[in-house]
Amino acid sequence: TKKAIIIGAGIAGIASAIRLKVKGYQVEVFEANNYPGGKLSEFQLGNYRFDAGPSLFTLPEQVEELFRICGKNPKDHFEYVKLPVTCHYFWEDGKTIDAYSDTYKFAEEVETKLGEPSQNIVKALKQSDYIYRHLSPLFMHRSLHKWSTWTNPQALKSYLKMGKLGIFNTMNAANKKSFKHPKLVQLFNRYATYNGSDPYQTPATLNIIPHLEFNIGAFFPKKGMHDITLSLYRLALEMGVEFLFEQKVEEVLVENGIASGVQVGENIHSADIVVNNMDMVNAYKSILKKQKQPTKLLNQPKSSSALIFYWGIKKEFKQLGLHNILFSEDYKKEFDHIFNQKVIFDDPTVYINITSVYKPDDAPKGCMNWFTMINVPNNQGQDWDSLITEARKNIIDKINRTLHTDIEPLIEVEEILEPRTIESRTSSAQGALYGNSSNNRYAAFLRHANYSSDIQNLYFCGGSVHPGGGIPLCLLSAKIMSEMIE
Ligand code: FAD
Repeated sequence: TKKAIIIGAGIAGIASAIRLKVKGYQVEVFEANNYPGGKLSEFQLGNYRFDAGPSLFTLPEQVEELFRICGKNPKDHFEYVKLPVTCHYFWEDGKTIDAYSDTYKFAEEVETKLGEPSQNIVKALKQSDYIYRHLSPLFMHRSLHKWSTWTNPQALKSYLKMGKLGIFNTMNAANKKSFKHPKLVQLFNRYATYNGSDPYQTPATLNIIPHLEFNIGAFFPKKGMHDITLSLYRLALEMGVEFLFEQKVEEVLVENGIASGVQVGENIHSADIVVNNMDMVNAYKSILKKQKQPTKLLNQPKSSSALIFYWGIKKEFKQLGLHNILFSEDYKKEFDHIFNQKVIFDDPTVYINITSVYKPDDAPKGCMNWFTMINVPNNQGQDWDSLITEARKNIIDKINRTLHTDIEPLIEVEEILEPRTIESRTSSAQGALYGNSSNNRYAAFLRHANYSSDIQNLYFCGGSVHPGGGIPLCLLSAKIMSEMIE
């Protein structure tokens, strides 16, 4: 039996392990932490449970497919519900929008509340579907680094439609054309943040993202986001994958241009193939430091990072749902702060994710677990301690102004995650949430391939390589990678 070693038990590492096991490999996963899941983990704070990282779940079939290829019925192992309202939006002037997953209901809501003609919503979501149909087979399901991808008929069709797919326009410019009301432009511009990009720079092609949320759906795993990790981890164990925790890989061993295994402490572990799930930039700096460096790819600008306050709140707010957005009064300035000035704007858009709305045992009765997050620049050595102190005050003021409350005395317990700890806990370069940003129209081509072109038998998966960050793309990276392996 051939042996595969996987470096990292992030969600893509676990998915890769399962896929390679199904291919008949003996699989060992080396993980530096003492738990699986990397960014997709959970923790307990007093009587509150929190999902530590991702909060939005899209494309659940990517998870289900892993059960199916192992001959199991996903419904027996992993349960989730479709959200009737994907997000609750709030502005300081008292306007609110409930983003119903039903397009027509959402369009009606927007027409009633903002006077935006409902057909504008319907048209924009059709355009989003159009982009998805044309680009997902190419950019999400295949390697961009193999000739066969570019010579297939689907690719040829897409070349002819580049203009219509938004490649030459920014997301903000396209949204300004689609919608009359500035609040709606802002609402749709927010989708750039789903992969840590700036709507004022990123191409309108990223208007593919609303399709996932509205036309396909946003979901919630019944046992919380962390159940994505746990259920796939259990599946991997059942299939016979071996996990080795607190085993930090120090070097990928290469002999005559062929990956031959890894070194962990004093120990050498041999393998026929090595799959790296560690952030690609930090991998080249550490475990691949003796190898040729893909300098251009390593220097691509990174996506934004996040500042999160996990708060146990001893009150229930009936107007809040699972996903809530309290919008900044000046979105353009906010992004200018994040991506150009690399600091935090004093009127940030605040995202509050509350899993106890769907999973009441995540908080004591009459209380809520608030995952309160703002987008912040990636780590470039800023004075984070003072930025965070200032931001905490501004976030609290923003919540008080928008929800007409006094939140500070209601905070029972608090924990903070910020760019430096995101980097130290999962080895994510500059604490970026999604690897490279997509602010450049060529970004998709400037991600590392799912294999090494210099070292045979060395492969890559995870949010820092093709096709990109976020759970669904990470799971697809594992699929594309495993399809390359005989
Ligand atoms: P990671 O989770 O980055 O894990 C890599 C693993 O490799 C880690 O466990 C690390 O310990 C291990 N490792 C590193 N170096 C070594 C070594 N030398 N030896 C052994 N092991 C090593 N995505 C969404 O889809 N929806 C969201 O709502 C969302 N929100 C997010 C919010 C936050 C705060 C964060 C941080 C991320 C969010 N994301 C979201 C992005 C998503 O979490 C990531 O894209 C995804 O989880 C990355 O998975 P990965 O497989 O690339 O590995």
